[in-house]
Amino acid sequence: MTKQTADVIVIGGGITGTSAAYQLALRGCRVTLFEKRYLAAGGTGRTVGLIRQHYSNEITARMALRALHVWQDFDQAVGGDVGWIQTGALFIVGPHDLAGLKTNIALQKQVGINVEFLDAQAVHALATYLNIDDIGGAAYEPDSGCADGATATNAYANRAKALGATILQDTKVTAVCLEAGRISGVETTQGDFSAPVVINAAGPWGAHLALGVGYDTPVEASRHQVAVFQRPEGLVHTHPFIGDFIQGFYLRPETGRLTLSGSLEASEATNKVDPDNYVETVDMDFNIDMAEHTEHRVPAMCDAQIRKGWAGLYDVTPDWHPIIGRMPGLEGFICAYGWSGSGFKMGPVTGEMIADLATGEQRCPIDPHLFRFERFAEGDLVTGQYSYSIMG
Ligand SMILES: Cc1cc2nc3c(=O)[nH]c(=O)nc-3n(C[C@H](O)[C@H](O)[C@H](O)COP(=O)(O)OP(=O)(O)OC[C@H]3O[C@@H](n4cnc5c(N)ncnc54)[C@H](O)[C@@H]3O)c2cc1C
Repeated sequence: MTKQTADVIVIGGGITGTSAAYQLALRGCRVTLFEKRYLAAGGTGRTVGLIRQHYSNEITARMALRALHVWQDFDQAVGGDVGWIQTGALFIVGPHDLAGLKTNIALQKQVGINVEFLDAQAVHALATYLNIDDIGGAAYEPDSGCADGATATNAYANRAKALGATILQDTKVTAVCLEAGRISGVETTQGDFSAPVVINAAGPWGAHLALGVGYDTPVEASRHQVAVFQRPEGLVHTHPFIGDFIQGFYLRPETGRLTLSGSLEASEATNKVDPDNYVETVDMDFNIDMAEHTEHRVPAMCDAQIRKGWAGLYDVTPDWHPIIGRMPGLEGFICAYGWSGSGFKMGPVTGEMIADLATGEQRCPIDPHLFRFERFAEGDLVTGQYSYSIMG
C-alpha cells in the first residue's frame, strides 16, 4: 500500500543524493531521500576529499571550477561547515607527458581555472623536499584543497531538511516501480512511496537498481585503498596535494602530520568487489608500495610511520565518467552514478544538474549531455586530452 507521495524520490544518501535533495528542495519540490544505512555510508564516507580542477575536457573542468566556488565558501553558498582546507594541488609529469600537460593547462586557463605551469626548478622552489630528478614539469593549482565527505553530506542533508525535504535513513529501496510505462515510485523496507520522478544516486549499488527496471549500466564496484603515513616531526611540515603521474599515485596532507596516499593507475578498475562484502582495511603490500613511491618523491619520508588506512568503493564506468541523465524510454527515471573515484568534488554541480533534469528547468549552465547513458551503445565514450583517464 502506498504510504506517502513526493514530487521526487532520491535513492542514496551520499554527496550526490544529498546535494540533489538540497537543490530540489531549494526549488520548492517535495523530496524524499532514502538511505539504506546512514548518510555517507558509501564511497562518500571514505573519500580522500580532494577538490581539484585538473581535468582534461572542457565540461569536467568547468564543473570542477563551479564546484570549487561552492566548497571554498560553503557556509555562504549552502550553509554549514564541510571542513574545507586550502592545500593547493601539484600534478607532476615526466618529460614525455609535457606536451599533454601544457595542452591541458591551456584548456583549464581558458575556462577560468587558476593554474600555472612549473618546470622542474620551479617545482623545487615550491617544495624543496621533493625529488625532481625525473620530473618534466607540473601543473600547480593554488586554490585547490580538501573537504570532509561525511561532514559535507550531513551539511547538505541538514539544509535539505530545513527546506522541507524528508531524509529517511536505515531505509532500503528494494525496487523501483513502474505503472503504464513510466515511473510510479519505489518499494522500501518501510513500505511503498509514490512519486513521478525517481533519482538513482546509489553509487556502486546504482547498477543493481537500474537493472531491476531493465537498464544494464556498465558500472562496476571496485575497491580503492588509502595508505596513511605520519610524517616525521620537523622534516616536512606540510605539503600540497601531489598527483604524481610518473609513479601513478597521490599524496594528500591531513591534520596530525598525516599524509594519505593512493593509486592513480587505471588498474584500480580491476579490483572488482561485491559492494556489500569487501575488505574495508588496507593491505600491507599496498602500504609498502605507497611507502616506496612516497620515499622516492619525498625522500625525507623514509622515516615516516605507517598508520591505519582504509579501503572504500569506486563506481567505475568504461570511460571513468559518470552516467548523469534521464534514462531513455522510461519517463521519470534519472540515473546519477558512476563517478569512478572523482565524484566528491563534483557533488555541488551534480546536484544542480540532477535538479535541472528532474524539473526540466535549466539553472545550471553545464549541460549533462556528455554523461548520457546512451553514449555506451553509441560508442561515443568521454575522452580527455591525454592518457590519465582515471583523472578525467
Ligand atoms: C578511497 C576513496 C577516495 C576518494 N577520493 C576522492 C577524492 O579525493 N576526490 C573526489 O572528488 N572523489 C573521491 N572519491 C570518489 C568519491 O568519494 C565518490 O565519487 C563520491 O563520494 C560518490 O558519491 P555518491 O553519492 O555518488 O555515492 P555514494 O557515496 O556511494 O552513495 C551511495 C549511497 O546509496 C546508498 N544506497 C545504495 N543502495 C541503496 C538502496 N537500495 N536504498 C537506499 N540507499 C541505497 C548507499 O548506502 C550509499 O550511502 C574517492 C572515493 C574513495 C572510495
